[in-house]
Amino acid sequence: MTIAIHKSIEKKPAKQRYQFRRFLDLHWSDINCDLHMHTSRTDGKAGVSEILQLSVQQGLSCVAFTEHVRKDTKWFPEFIQEVRSEAEAYPQLQVLIGCEAKALDATGGFDVSEEILAKCDLVLGSVHRFPNYQGGYLNVSHLTPEEFAQIEFELALGLLKFAPIDVLAHPGGMYSKRHGEFPTKLMRELMEVSLERQLAIEINTSYLRNLPNFLDLCTEVNPYVSIGSDVHRLKQLANCRDQLHRLGVGV
Ligand SMILES: [Zn+2]
Ligand SMILES: [Zn+2]
Repeated sequence: MTIAIHKSIEKKPAKQRYQFRRFLDLHWSDINCDLHMHTSRTDGKAGVSEILQLSVQQGLSCVAFTEHVRKDTKWFPEFIQEVRSEAEAYPQLQVLIGCEAKALDATGGFDVSEEILAKCDLVLGSVHRFPNYQGGYLNVSHLTPEEFAQIEFELALGLLKFAPIDVLAHPGGMYSKRHGEFPTKLMRELMEVSLERQLAIEINTSYLRNLPNFLDLCTEVNPYVSIGSDVHRLKQLANCRDQLHRLGVGV
């Protein structure tokens, strides 16, 4: 049996990409952002203008709209226009366009089109479902916690190694929703690979079950990190920044 390895797409040279910093080099200016937000265009509850308005009120310096997309998503150009036009009212805020797409397999299959990738300032790769490699998804209720963690790990590793992502979003997130804190050994390996690939790993305060432990690992491995609250409701905006601030990161 041959396994098709999806060709890793070269990073776009022309467009400016977001510069992530390594964990131990983080300053307040790197933390004072939210790089993972959804709007009512997909499963978020707030609109673009409400989010921008609150971002400014919260004193954020940079935000990224990272809507859920798929290969067949058609509304992306229209969404970009909406964001750009709303953002004109807030010149003090850096507003980025990104997307969040899911792993389709463990060899870099990634549910996003080239057209969308070409328009993004940053691309988040996520594990959202476990494929059964027969066109459907695994019934995860039959998996032991160990099996669950291993499958999520392999899909995340595939994103890091083969997919055209900038950020591994909510690492171990599916596991954490179901079984609690993702095994440290596997998380460390994801961080190490992200560092090798010079990709960011996300500090996602919506999924992490034990933020201090995750930050201890970040101190040890010192990966590139992305700050993301995974905003679906307005009250979540800047949560990640605020939690890091309380824990003394970047201050
Ligand atoms: Zn996600
Ligand atoms: Zn998300």
